[in-house]
Parts: sequence; C-alpha cells; structure tokens
Amino acid sequence: MLSKKSAGIKSSAVRELLKFSKIPGVISLAGGIPATDLIDVEGIDTILRDILSREHRNLFQYSVTEGEEHLREQLSRWNKGHNLDVDAESIIITNGSQQAIDLLARVFLEKGDKVLVERPTYLAALQLFGYSDATVDELQYDAEGIDLNQLEQAMAAGGVKIVYLTPNFANPTGGTISYEQRVTIAKLAQRYRAVIIEDDPYGHLRFSGSPVPSIYSIAQSLFGKDHTVCYMSSFSKIFSPGLRLGWLAVPEQFHMATVVAKQALDLHTSTLNQSIAAHYLESGRINERVEMLKATYKDRRDYLIESLHEYLGDDITWNTPDGGMFLWCHLAENIDASQLLQECIKENVVFVPGEVFFARNPQKNSLRLSYSMLNNDNAREAGIRIARALSRLK
Ligand code: PMP
Repeated sequence: MLSKKSAGIKSSAVRELLKFSKIPGVISLAGGIPATDLIDVEGIDTILRDILSREHRNLFQYSVTEGEEHLREQLSRWNKGHNLDVDAESIIITNGSQQAIDLLARVFLEKGDKVLVERPTYLAALQLFGYSDATVDELQYDAEGIDLNQLEQAMAAGGVKIVYLTPNFANPTGGTISYEQRVTIAKLAQRYRAVIIEDDPYGHLRFSGSPVPSIYSIAQSLFGKDHTVCYMSSFSKIFSPGLRLGWLAVPEQFHMATVVAKQALDLHTSTLNQSIAAHYLESGRINERVEMLKATYKDRRDYLIESLHEYLGDDITWNTPDGGMFLWCHLAENIDASQLLQECIKENVVFVPGEVFFARNPQKNSLRLSYSMLNNDNAREAGIRIARALSRLK
C-alpha cells in the first residue's frame, strides 16, 4: 500500500548504526552527533529554573510560524559575528536544519527539476530529495573543491532548480569550499536563477584555518536583496540536538512561501524549546561552550589521526578537516567498507560505510569516521580494533 517513493527510500544507515553505539563497550565512530558528555546540562538547568520561576504560561501555548521573536532577535545579533548578517525578520526558526532543507524542497521542487549535490553528500538530504519529484545529480568534489565547469554546464543545460551544498566541514567529507569558489557559485546561481541551499550546521566549529564568508553573505554583498541563496544552521552541534532547533534565512522573495510551507507542515516549532535557546544565547554562555567544543573536537580529531597512523598505517588514507566532526577515509581499492563494518561490529567498533553518501556509483572503499565521541584511550582502542578487523579482509 506504500507509495512508490516511500517504498523506494531506505532507512538511514547512520540512524540504524546509532542502535549499536548505545550498546556498552561499543566504540562508535558512526554518529554525526555532538558528544553527550559535552552537553551543557548545568547551563540548561540554570536557564530552565530561571524560565520556570517567571510567568511562563505562554511557553506552553501555540506560537507563530516564523518563530519566537526573542529567539530570532538573539540569533540575528549572535550570527552577525559569524556567517550571517540579517535582521530578526529574515530568520525562520525550524525543527532542526533538516526541516529547513525539507521546507525548501517543498517550496521549489517539481517534476522535471534537477537538484545538484556534492559527491558525496549528506545522506538525509539525499533521502529527503528522494521524496520530491526532482532528480538528483552529483557534482564532482575533491580536495580542489567543486568541479565548477561541471556546475556551469549543468546550469546552462537548464532544469537545475536547487544546488545543495555544505560549504563548511561537510558531512561526510569534512571539506570546505574556498572563498573563490563560493563567489563563482553565487554568481552562477544568480545568472541561471538556481536556488543555493547553503547547509551550515558545522560552520561554528572551526578549529584551524581562517573562516570563509558564507555564500549567503557573498551573494548579499554582490546582489543586494534579490539573490537566490538560502542559508541554514542549527543548534544541534553547538548546544543540543534533542531540542530540534535550527534557523533559516531566505531572500525576501522566498520568505512568505517558506513560512506557508512550515504552516502546512507543523504550524510552528516548540515554544518552550525556543525560549530555552533564546535565553542561552542571551546569557552569552554559548560562546564559551562553542570555544570549548572546538578545542575538544580538535584534540579528538588528533587522537583519531594518531591512532590511524599507528595502527592502520598505509592501509587507510584520510582528509584532515579544519573543523566539524568527520574524517573521510579510503581503504585499498579492493576493500569494501561495508564488509569491513561487519568485521568491525564483531570487534565492537562501528563507523559509517561511505557508500551511503553517494546518489549513485558509490566508492565502496570509502568510510566516514566521526571523532566527536572519542577520547585518547578509546581512539587508540578504535584503531586497534579496526586494524584487527581489516587484517581478516586482506
Ligand atoms: N545537515 C547536515 C549536513 C547534517 O550533518 C545534519 C545532522 N547530521 C543536519 C543537516 C541536520 O541537523 P539538525 O539536527 O539541525 O536537523
């Protein structure tokens, strides 16, 4: 009885693997999730006590679709120092950035449209576009960045409605798109009237190199209000994924349609959760927390790299990201990372085989290792276990 689309879309391998990571003794390099031990429970408790000690009846009432004004104001102020310079009215609060992508897919996509994505790209975006009537094509993406010739040719050929990009410390590659490439992408989108979805949940977690302006802000400075870049980010990696809070800035011309899509989808995002996040931003505590997360993730990245060097040596290659949570790795051509995962499960260590991040023709020897949950000891142990599992496949 299922629709064809529904029957054709598989459950996310990442979410399936989350089950393993909850088993005691299993070392998980699978989840793209923030470290549970770094969630600021003291900060959250203080804010909750404060909120509940004041008049809070309205926090349990319906709210407006765009999002609570307090939170939008705080986000506008806080983001000005980061990637996004917009006023509160331009921000739409969403149920995580996942919903922001969904809203834009609903607003823009129809039969015959094309969506371009990086190859490889974020698995749940592929899932989500699979529910639309559009087709998904991949853009070659390597250490040099996106293949801009391919991008231009695809746009010139017509039909490209959305280009979905994760420009900072991408999931799964950890890659960052350079400033020069961002300028070209913004110009191409403007010329061919394609929408850029700039998905930036990891941008606040840069621990080396210099920040690169967002495509949104580049387009804003080049073209003023009439550009086509939609920017989104999230509290999930810097505060709490369980609150399900993200924010979306779209150019004015798309604002009303996006709000209406959200009305139809869920009316609005949790009022109480929005209030918690607004107070957290206002308290300034978020800045210390982000600094701490960056320092910790940098250490964890380095622990994992040391462990791979020591125990896997030439059997594996990887990128070295400037932020975020992921090492994108390759094994020898003839080794299938899904088979390695089966062996690794026996060794109580899990990761995500890279093949799930490709729309087609997957690189079977690729894998994504997340270091967000590791410390020095379990990073070493992870390397030892993966090496033991790999030795059985060689
Ligand atoms: N985009 C990317 C690239 C992600 O990695 C994730 C989370 N894994 C999301 C969006 C969704 O995040 P959120 O929790 O904000 O919905």
